[in-house]
Amino acid sequence: MYDLARVRADFPILSRQVNGRPLVYLDNGASAQKPRAVIEAMNHAYEMEYANVHRGLHHLSTLATEKYEEVRRIIARFLNVADEREIVFTTGTTEGINMVSYAWAAPRMQAGDEIVLSVLEHHANIVPWHFLRERQGVVLKWVEPEADGGLDAQKVIDAIGPRTKLVAITQMSNVTGARVDVGAIGRAARARGVPVLVDGSQGAVHAPVSVPDLACDFYVITGHKLYGPSGSGAIWIAPERMAEMRPFLGGGDMIREVTRETVTYADPPMKFEAGTPGIVQQIGLGVALEYLMGLGMENVAAHEAALRDYALSRLKGLNWLNLQGTSAGKGAIFSFTLQGPAHAHDISTVLDKKGIAVRAGTHCAMPLLTHLGVTATCRASFGLYNSKAEVDALVEALEFCRELFG
Ligand code: PLP
Repeated sequence: MYDLARVRADFPILSRQVNGRPLVYLDNGASAQKPRAVIEAMNHAYEMEYANVHRGLHHLSTLATEKYEEVRRIIARFLNVADEREIVFTTGTTEGINMVSYAWAAPRMQAGDEIVLSVLEHHANIVPWHFLRERQGVVLKWVEPEADGGLDAQKVIDAIGPRTKLVAITQMSNVTGARVDVGAIGRAARARGVPVLVDGSQGAVHAPVSVPDLACDFYVITGHKLYGPSGSGAIWIAPERMAEMRPFLGGGDMIREVTRETVTYADPPMKFEAGTPGIVQQIGLGVALEYLMGLGMENVAAHEAALRDYALSRLKGLNWLNLQGTSAGKGAIFSFTLQGPAHAHDISTVLDKKGIAVRAGTHCAMPLLTHLGVTATCRASFGLYNSKAEVDALVEALEFCRELFG
């Protein structure tokens, strides 16, 4: 049984007020709040166990290294990956996708080669591919969403052609919550010999993930949306792709030997982890993932599905609200505008006065907003600690906006 009151009590920030009202935090799509266990583990790491990793032979360095490397195993478990050496630490999704773009894709793509991607993508899964278009003449092949905001996996599969070198696709839209059947895409692409990168930034937060079942080659996560610290994250890379990849960043920790004339590299994953990493951030991410696995991702998914259904039923009752994206099985992320003159920024400002945090703008997904024919939306994105009472608070505040702006 999912004990929401207990879950909420785990997050200190939820007890604070904003503008004299209890905080209703509905900006989880941008970044999630942190449970006490994460905050305390990070404090402890700094207070009692801090040193650089992989370098020193002294006690604290060995301890920090053990704690840090344990997180690699935790991430592997979270993603159902058997070998933790396939996990590379990153600062988040953005670094992970850029790593693939620079270290794997750039050296093996020629002018006219294609990358298939969808209009749902976040800029983090667009701009690194634009770099290849600008610099190397790679062609971006866009797959359009359906009228309900969902993405038809078959259309992605049909877009794969003889020049396709990569499919780069999100598991869940950060704007509409649309879920994509990335497993079907992965299996079809694999049958055609085309690697697939899955952006799991949102997908991994809201449901259990088993990377081997997705038949993909790269799977990226970002720690701060997973109730962990910002600056933490990871990418899972299939061993065949790792073997093809050249190093990304150069520096300490990623080498075997450096002379004046030559350099040889450490074995993966270290080959892709140059410099001093976010030691304490990754330790915090490990605790966050343990927390999620303790709750059970299937329980988190069930709780959020109930929230989604309730929020949908309430929001659909507001006939002056334009809800973007209602595809079946979507996550509890709602983008909307109000009929009338109010801009999304106005609405979010009024909601903030009532203690409700939502995001307003383009959500780093300009191609999708252009497709939807809007310049900005408000986005309420729910997380594992949100309640039906908070849905009610949102609806009440929106009704207030409607009266205010007409
Ligand atoms: N992809 C999706 C779907 C996202 O929602 C986000 C964050 O908003 C990102 C990528 C980028 O993640 P980060 O900024 O943590 O690297």
